[in-house]
Amino acid sequence: MCAVAWRAPDLVVPVVGFRQWRLLGTSLHSLWSEVQWLSAELRAECAVGAHDATDVPAKGCSCGIYAFYGPCPCTASALTPDLVGGVVILWGSVELHATGMRAAHARIVGLELPLSHGRKRRTVIDVADRLGVRAVTHRALRMVGAEQGAPLQHSLRPRRDWVAPGTGQPIGVVPRATMLAQGGREVLPTFCKRRRDQ
Ligand SMILES: [Zn+2]
Repeated sequence: MCAVAWRAPDLVVPVVGFRQWRLLGTSLHSLWSEVQWLSAELRAECAVGAHDATDVPAKGCSCGIYAFYGPCPCTASALTPDLVGGVVILWGSVELHATGMRAAHARIVGLELPLSHGRKRRTVIDVADRLGVRAVTHRALRMVGAEQGAPLQHSLRPRRDWVAPGTGQPIGVVPRATMLAQGGREVLPTFCKRRRDQ
């Protein structure tokens, strides 16, 4: 294994990412934190690390707004009553991992419509209207994201066998606390809901 630069190179345009949220009534929340998205745009702050709360994402910490490089599987949200997929753009400080990114700033571009036509669909449309973002099908997520940002070049993604300098920890989107709970093995999530994020 080899050590790699921890920070992403300067990115001129916002980076497109994909993630999930949880609906609590008609409000939108991060999956594993108390953060409520009151508007489409969010600036991350750290509540757990011993560093400047505004220095996000920080080395060796799990803070930041998480997103994957590609859309979460449609079934990861569609079959649940409260999970919502979507597309965001990320900017500011962005840390690249093998399976995703964590960033200082994010803005929702679009929320994913569920397959059903019941109450959840109506709620997603209402939330999207309130936030001023689009409600689109799973298939349209990449296209909507491309209107406001650019996908990260595949060549810039860290390889799964790269480790973080100083810590020797594998670079992965799963926070360290979760990794330790799993016996220190890198856990590559198959569903977005496995992550603890903002
Ligand atoms: Zn932190």
